[in-house]
Amino acid sequence: MDIMRLEQNQKKKKTKWWIALGAGVTIFAGASLGALSAYNWSPEEAIEGLFGSSEEQSITESSHEERNIDEDVKEMTRQEEENETLDETEPPEEDQDETEAPEEVPDESETPAEDIETPEETVERTPETMTEPLYVDGVLIANKEYPLPTDYAPGEDPEARASYNKMQQAASAAGYSLVAFSTYRSYDYQTDLYNNYVAQHGQEEADRFSARPGYSEHQTGLGFDIGAEGQEQHWASDSFKDTAEAKWLAENAHKFGFILRYPAGKEHITGYQYESWHFRYIGKDLAGKVYNSGQTLEEYLGI
Ligand SMILES: [Zn+2]
Repeated sequence: MDIMRLEQNQKKKKTKWWIALGAGVTIFAGASLGALSAYNWSPEEAIEGLFGSSEEQSITESSHEERNIDEDVKEMTRQEEENETLDETEPPEEDQDETEAPEEVPDESETPAEDIETPEETVERTPETMTEPLYVDGVLIANKEYPLPTDYAPGEDPEARASYNKMQQAASAAGYSLVAFSTYRSYDYQTDLYNNYVAQHGQEEADRFSARPGYSEHQTGLGFDIGAEGQEQHWASDSFKDTAEAKWLAENAHKFGFILRYPAGKEHITGYQYESWHFRYIGKDLAGKVYNSGQTLEEYLGI
């Protein structure tokens, strides 16, 4: 019996051992499964890992690539949309820049602009910059806008003088004694004359009745200041307009090629107040046309 008990005890011990072993294996397996599940383990992936299912893997990869391409396209599209959005929002900024630019650009481009204007405007037409006198429709021009070159010194025009002499004879025949007391005046002479007027009357007043040097029609040799002989007090004076000689000239000068150059009421066009004594020779034909038009020379020539 002792042996039987011993064997029975041994069997019991073996049974306990197997139970313990089974429990341990169960615990280990459970722990392992739990640990793998924590890494998103799946039986398929485990199998793929074991047997290297390249086909599925390539599909998976290609699907990844497709997804990546899709995402890239989406990303590009999104960026393009953003760019378009930026393009739409940027223009106002550019416009602002452009709006700001003109404020700055003129400052920066003032010098070039002056350089560009220089050829035209610096011909700003001063006697010093004028190289040739201006002719409009064959008519020599000398006014406040178009001066003559400083060295333009033709002297008294012979044709104008000859025509004046005829006019003087005609006036004499009608009972009037005319005197051309000032005709050609050189640039230097006009300089002295103008400076004297400025000294006596001030520049603003002097500019109304005396041309600045280079701007005088007398420098053309075609301007004639005419008065009545023996009536020097009216020469180059506003009072001349009331003399019989002035009235005769106003009605007949054009027949001899002369026009009253600075008529009353045309100061805003000619730049000079009414000068009943100043006549300009332009030839019989043109003088008749200008006279009949009632216009100044500037108006008639459209300058
Ligand atoms: Zn004059």
